Amino acid sequence: MADVEIKKLTKSFGTVEVIPEMDLVIPDGSFTVLVGPSGCGKSTLLRMIAGLELQTSGDLSIGGVDVRGRDPSDRGIAMVFQSYALYPHMTVRENISFALRLAKADPAEIEARVQNAADILQLTPLLDRRPKQLSGGQRQRVAIGRAIVRNPEVFLFDEPLSNLDAALRVQMRVEIMELHERLKTTMVYVTHDQVEAMTMADRIVVLNEGRIEQVGSPLELYDTPQTAFVAGFIGSPK
Ligand code: ADP
Ligand code: MG
Repeated sequence: MADVEIKKLTKSFGTVEVIPEMDLVIPDGSFTVLVGPSGCGKSTLLRMIAGLELQTSGDLSIGGVDVRGRDPSDRGIAMVFQSYALYPHMTVRENISFALRLAKADPAEIEARVQNAADILQLTPLLDRRPKQLSGGQRQRVAIGRAIVRNPEVFLFDEPLSNLDAALRVQMRVEIMELHERLKTTMVYVTHDQVEAMTMADRIVVLNEGRIEQVGSPLELYDTPQTAFVAGFIGSPK
């Protein structure tokens, strides 16, 4: 079980309270999309789950384990960023295997996991290339490969497709949904794009100024929005 449980979580930067007090359970195996306008606190929430940002107060557990004092590498999570964050001087193989090599995993095990990830993401012919020799979509696949090899209990995605053109974005949406179908791992996916949320999620959390407006399936939000904000946000895609 790797649900993410958030209780009375708050976050302030100095005197500015970005997340007032949040309760949220992200169910094990769900594809949960956090959606809301720019600046509403999506990345901050995801970064707190990842351990890249410390909560101001409240409880946070992953798979029933209190992770508040734990490093990002010790939370059973892997995060994929909008910027890919690949190492330019390393090959695709070296980028994908980096965390495993850092953890001094067995070389045969590392190679097996890299092959598996490359196979899933159709990166096998590209393993010896460097990031600058890849397209944007291929770079984002490498970033996802780097997450897969860690066998995380929870994948965290922060607007991973924002740097891609529209056609590629649609294709990568499908690939990420197929990945979820295949691995059945909990995935938490942040976007400001209503269409992305509606097409990818089995569960959507609508955020507005650090508060949860509504949680539900795409159909529930569309049919029975509980606030004017949700109605406007889901009802009028850009
Ligand atoms: P989103 O990802 O939804 O666009 P963020 O989580 O990045 O929003 O930011 C939420 C709010 O917190 C914004 O007002 C932003 O300016 C503020 N914020 C984020 N990170 C910091 C930081 N390190 N220091 C101060 N303010 C921050
Ligand atoms: Mg953000």
